[in-house]
Amino acid sequence: MSKPLIVITGASSGIGAATARLLSAQGHPLLLLARRLEKLHELGLPDTLCRKVDVTDRDAVEAAVREAEERFGPADAIVNNAGAMLLGRLADQPAEEWDRMIDLNIKGVLYGVRAVLPGMLARGTGTIINVSSIAGRKTFPNHTAYVGTKFAVHAMSENLREEVASRGVRVVTIAPGAVETELLSHTSDEQIKKDYEAWKKSAGGALDPQAVAEAVAYAYRQPQNVTIREIVLAATGQEA
Ligand code: NDP
Repeated sequence: MSKPLIVITGASSGIGAATARLLSAQGHPLLLLARRLEKLHELGLPDTLCRKVDVTDRDAVEAAVREAEERFGPADAIVNNAGAMLLGRLADQPAEEWDRMIDLNIKGVLYGVRAVLPGMLARGTGTIINVSSIAGRKTFPNHTAYVGTKFAVHAMSENLREEVASRGVRVVTIAPGAVETELLSHTSDEQIKKDYEAWKKSAGGALDPQAVAEAVAYAYRQPQNVTIREIVLAATGQEA
């Protein structure tokens, strides 16, 4: 039997792109969402629908999932991965950056969940994988607004897990430490970026996104009656 559809948000770079490549190689049809459509197409994956969707647009997320399900059958999993890390201090960070992170990191996850969850509950099976962060478990310098969004992802994921556990649906939280991706590049404070790069270097470098993709695939490939509730992974040299 052919493998079921998996939805991946933020698949145009970093962790999302690595996860898309891995799950595609394992035979899954995919729906890939991001704003940079050309980057999704560049992955060149078979049985894959690429859609230019801003995940802060609830209707657009919903429409893309319905379109993919018509083509490939029901979504068996979603990887809510799209996110932004805009580091700053609350006294001087542009408030617009808080809004962007709250809309994307929190509401984007909720919209992804809503697009697939009713179908999963009706079928009594499915897996929701939310990419949070170690910054969803503890604090870091200059991370105040970001940790707020990632603590929210951890809290919502665990509460959702409890909500749907008896209905056959699994909820998994992936909590990586620093990963070598485009994530830091969007922070607007140049000094904070420099300090963060120095911190990564002092830890012997960050994780390769492939390591996080492997963690996602590991959690997903367990039998449906096994839920890996959380995976926390970081470069060995990362002390914090
Ligand atoms: P990247 O910046 O490389 O990837 C972020 C992805 O999110 C891109 O594909 C981007 O695509 C997408 N994205 C951003 N905004 C939107 C939007 N409004 N709508 C749809 N897609 C969007 O970073 P990572 O791969 O590192 O980040 C992936 C996840 O991992 C994030 O949730 C991040 O918080 C988390 N994480 C990352 C860590 C790290 O150190 N890198 C550590 C811990 C967690 P596009 O711009 O094309 O829309």
